[in-house]
Amino acid sequence: MCLVSKTQIGLNTATAYSGGIFSYAGGGVTPEEHYTVTMKAGCGVNDPVLLKTLTEEAAASLDELRSWGVDIRFPRPGKASVRHTAKYALMAGAGFVEQLEAVAREQCVKMVEFSVATKLLRNNAGVCGARLVNWKPGKSLDLFADAVILATGGAGQIFARTDNPARLTGDGYALAYSVGAELRDMEFIQFYPLGWDDQALPVWMGDLGLIDFLPLTDADGNEFLLQKLHEWGFKSGSEGNLYARDRSAVAIAQTAHDGGAFVHFEKASPELWQDKRFLRTLVIDPARFQGLNRPVRVSPLEHYFCGGVTIDTYGHTSVPGLYACGEVTGGVDGANRVGGNALANIVTFGLRAGKTAVQETQRASGLHENSAPSPTFSAEGNSPVQLRRTLQNKMWETLGPIRTAKGLNEALTFLAEFINKPIRASSSTELLAALEMPGLISTARESAKAALARTHSLGVHFRVDDNN
Ligand SMILES: Cc1cc2nc3c(=O)[nH]c(=O)nc-3n(C[C@H](O)[C@H](O)[C@H](O)COP(=O)(O)OP(=O)(O)OC[C@H]3O[C@@H](n4cnc5c(N)ncnc54)[C@H](O)[C@@H]3O)c2cc1C
Repeated sequence: MCLVSKTQIGLNTATAYSGGIFSYAGGGVTPEEHYTVTMKAGCGVNDPVLLKTLTEEAAASLDELRSWGVDIRFPRPGKASVRHTAKYALMAGAGFVEQLEAVAREQCVKMVEFSVATKLLRNNAGVCGARLVNWKPGKSLDLFADAVILATGGAGQIFARTDNPARLTGDGYALAYSVGAELRDMEFIQFYPLGWDDQALPVWMGDLGLIDFLPLTDADGNEFLLQKLHEWGFKSGSEGNLYARDRSAVAIAQTAHDGGAFVHFEKASPELWQDKRFLRTLVIDPARFQGLNRPVRVSPLEHYFCGGVTIDTYGHTSVPGLYACGEVTGGVDGANRVGGNALANIVTFGLRAGKTAVQETQRASGLHENSAPSPTFSAEGNSPVQLRRTLQNKMWETLGPIRTAKGLNEALTFLAEFINKPIRASSSTELLAALEMPGLISTARESAKAALARTHSLGVHFRVDDNN
């Protein structure tokens, strides 16, 4: 068994960067309740069988991880947490990832680090391995295996504004697509409603529950979101954070576009700065806000891909030999994700895909490797870092929280031309960025195509030119 990672194992994952909160049916929440809220948030686009599996099995999956010694707590009904295991609040899932890595090392799982899977290898039976490029020395090898599981996460890096780590460039969607695996719901990209958009602060999410403590207004001082959340049937920003990220992101994006959306830190009392619940909603270090006694500009940022590779409950894709789990898959979330469901998803379907792949390949040949043609370093062509920035800006403008047919057509034309641009790789880091370009382009294209085809707004997909 072999685990391949673009960087050091576990770092640069959304799991490590996450808030470390899992939603699951337990502690008084029934599977039926979990199913109902998730299906409602997902606008019924969710795969009912995958969702039923999640709601019925997440609790047992968490227990299985605990039986391996992974430290998981259950702070309130329907919520599990690993935050207490993290050294830094900003990477509240890092302790969890470290514990999983330790379990894998104890089980002697082979680790191949600093290597990008750039191609899936095929034989007559289906997928039989992957080409890997170790970007540090620039060496390639073909790794043959009886089963390949994609657990490559999302593609936040196609956007100028995202809280995803730098390596989440959509490679898994592109790899699956390249061998004909089915993708679904690629238009449903979740934008986290409240992200810092102020020069003094990093581009990062703040918890929408912040608006329960401080006013969020438009440029004229109107508190536009809290009132809307009440009308939609939610008691607070904190509830909206779990169940109404879609509508809240659109409301903040439109206000930000029409003159600005601001959280009023000048109204924070000295007592508020002592309130742990308030401090948690800042997500980043409260010290960053020192001296910011003024309105702070906010706007949404890309957070999560709801769609992805189509799987069954065992993690099979539509191509034999290829399995998938986690954010790279679609179906559980439908048109909008409930907060906390992604971590429950990766645990539940990660276990299922892994166990199935092992059972189905028990008598097969195991791993072997061949050398493969290595990439060449070259100083010719465009900087991949600058190309990425150009693509991110264009996708933010056209495929971001507010979409039109005109913008989406523009995105597709841009991507068709962009694919032919020569890319330079004059150093290891440029090679890594160059290797990531196909994933960015292909994922952006599939998402733009799906967004163009869905002419009506639904869930996290908002078409401002929807006349109905
Ligand atoms: C800031 C933030 C906070 C969040 N908070 C929560 C939360 O509290 N609760 C919740 O449920 N969800 C949360 N989410 C969402 C959740 O964290 C992710 O959906 C989930 O962790 C994804 O896990 P994954 O295993 O699918 O992918 P990841 O954990 O992202 O791991 C993917 C790995 O694949 C590697 N990879 C990608 N392509 C290749 C390639 N070609 N070759 C080799 N390696 C490759 C990447 O480098 C990375 O190491 C949050 C997300 C973010 C960004």
